[in-house]
Amino acid sequence: MSNPFDVIIIGSGPAGYVCAIRCAQLGLSTAVIEQSSGVNNQPLLGGTCLNVGCIPSKALLDSSQRYADATGHLSEHGIGVGEVTLDIAGMMARKEKIVSQLTGGVSGLLKHNGVTVITGAAMLMSGREVAVTSGEGEVAHYTADHVVLAAGSEPAAIPPAPIDGERVVDSTGALCFDAVPERLGVIGAGVIGLELGSVWARLGAEVVMLEAMDQFLPNMDEQIAAESAKIFAKQGLDIRLGARVTGAEVDADGVSVSYTHQDSSVTERFDRLIVAVGRTPRTEGLFSADSGVTVDERGFVFVNDYCATEAPGVYAIGDIVRGPMLAHKGSEEGVMVAERIHGKAAQLNYEVIPSIIYTHPEVAGVGKTEQELKSEGVEYKAGTFPFAAIGRAQASGETDGLVKILSDAESDQILGAHVVGPSAADLVQQIVIAIEMAASTEDLQLMVFGHPTMSEAVHEAALAVDGRAIHMVNRAKR
Ligand code: FAD
Ligand code: NAD
Repeated sequence: MSNPFDVIIIGSGPAGYVCAIRCAQLGLSTAVIEQSSGVNNQPLLGGTCLNVGCIPSKALLDSSQRYADATGHLSEHGIGVGEVTLDIAGMMARKEKIVSQLTGGVSGLLKHNGVTVITGAAMLMSGREVAVTSGEGEVAHYTADHVVLAAGSEPAAIPPAPIDGERVVDSTGALCFDAVPERLGVIGAGVIGLELGSVWARLGAEVVMLEAMDQFLPNMDEQIAAESAKIFAKQGLDIRLGARVTGAEVDADGVSVSYTHQDSSVTERFDRLIVAVGRTPRTEGLFSADSGVTVDERGFVFVNDYCATEAPGVYAIGDIVRGPMLAHKGSEEGVMVAERIHGKAAQLNYEVIPSIIYTHPEVAGVGKTEQELKSEGVEYKAGTFPFAAIGRAQASGETDGLVKILSDAESDQILGAHVVGPSAADLVQQIVIAIEMAASTEDLQLMVFGHPTMSEAVHEAALAVDGRAIHMVNRAKR
C-alpha cells in the first residue's frame, strides 16, 4: 500500500479531470488514474470527449461544413472558387493536431495544479483501496479518503451488426475513414448518427439512416424535431424511421444490411456502416463485489442526487451514472463532488442542462419540452419565432429554423427553450442563464438585444409568448 491521497479519481475524461483540478484548487492531495496510454506509455488524458468524441467530431463537422460551403453555398454570395479539392488525410491530420493540443493542455493543467497522474487500469476494492494494473501487468495499491469513479462509457453494440473496424464501425471508426464512402449506412438516427452522418454527407457520401424508433429525436421538443427532420431531408439525409436491422453481412466490396421497414423486409448495400445506437457505462472490472458500489437496473453506478454511491466516501460522476451522457454534465458533477468533499453543500440543477446536436443548423434545447409540460399537466404559454424573419439570418443565408420559448401560464417564469437554426447552441445558452436567474419572458421582452444578431430571434420568441412579436404577424395580439 502506498501514497495515501485525499482523493483518487478513476478516469481522466471531462468528468474526472475537471473534478481533479477543482479538488487540487481546494487544497486536496489528488491523483487521477487513466488506463489509456499513448507514446512512451504516457497517459492519454481527456477521455472520450477529447480523444474520440466531442472534439474530433466537431473538428470534422467544421471542416466538412467549409467544404460544403466551398462546393455549394459560396456561389450564393457571388463568390466563385474554381475547382475544390478534398484532402481527407489533411482533414484528419488537422483533427489529430487539435486533439493532441487539447489533451496536452489537460496534461499541463493537471501538472500545474499538482495532480498526480498514474497510468493503469484501476479497480476499487473494499475500504477505498484501489488496485492499479500497469500495461506490463504489475499491480500497485493506493488508498484515499475519497474515491471518485469517472470511467465513462463506450459505444453500445447490437448483435445483428457486429463491429469489424473496417466496413462496420462505431463512432470512433467513423471519425477516421481514409476516404469518403460512396454509400454510407448509419444505424441509429440519434446525436452521433446525425453529426457523423452529416460530416460524410457534406463530403459527398449518400447517407441512409436506419432508426428503430417511429419517432425522430424523441427527447427533443416535438415541434423542433419535426422542423429539424424537414431541414435534414432537404440536405439529403435519408432518415428511415421504424427500421429494425436484422443482419449485416460484410464481403469484399461492402456490407449488405437487412432490416424490416413498414412490414416489408429490405436489404441495402453500403460501402461502410456506422453503428450509433447509444453508449453503455464502463463498469466492467471497475469495482470488486465487496467495494460497496452498486449499479442500477440499467447498469449505471447507483448514486444519489449528489453523486455519492452506496459505499462511504466513494462517488461516481459523468457517463457512468444516470442523466444525459454529456461532457458538460459530467464536468459539473465533478466540480460538485470536489466541493462536497471539501465540505461545501454544492448541488447541480439537473433540470437545466442544455443539449445540442451540432448539425448545420444546430438543434438545441434546455428545460421542459412542450410535450413534457402537456403530460405533466402544467399550464404554459409558448412563443415561436422563425429565423426567416431575422435580418441577420437573411444576410447570412441561414434562414431555416425557429426559436421556441415556453413559460408558466401564471407566473410567466421560463420553463424551457428549444431552437433549430443558426447558432442554436449559443442562443439556448442565453436561456440557460435566464432560467437559472428565474427570469420570466417579460424580463427578456424588456431587455435590449443587439441588431442585427441571431439573438433577436430569442427576443422576438419571448415577445411572441404574449402575442407581441414585432417582425411577424401575431396570431393573438396583446
Ligand atoms: P469518458 O470521457 O468516457 O472518460 C472516461 C475515462 O476513464 C477514459 O479516459 C477511460 O480510458 C478511463 N477509464 C475507464 N475505466 C478505467 C479504469 N478502470 N481505470 C483507469 N481508467 C479508466 N458530449 C457533449 O457534451 N458534447 C458533444 O459535442 C459530444 N460529442 C460527442 C461525440 C462523439 C462521437 C461521442 C462518442 C461522444 C460525444 N459526447 C459529447 C459525449 C461525451 O464525450 C461524454 O459524455 C463524455 O466524454 C463523458 O465524460 P466522462 O468523463 O464521464 O467519461
Ligand atoms: P442516441 O441515444 O442519441 O441515439 C441512438 C439512436 O439509435 C436512438 O435514436 C435509438 O432509437 C437508435 N437505436 C437503438 N438501437 C437501434 C437499432 N437496433 N436499430 C436502429 N436504431 C437503433 O445515442 P448516440 O447517438 O449513439 O450517442 C450516444 C451518447 O453520446 C448520447 O447519449 C449523446 O448524449 C452523447 N453524444 C452527445 C453529443 C452532443 O452533445 N452533441 C454528440 C454525440 C454523442
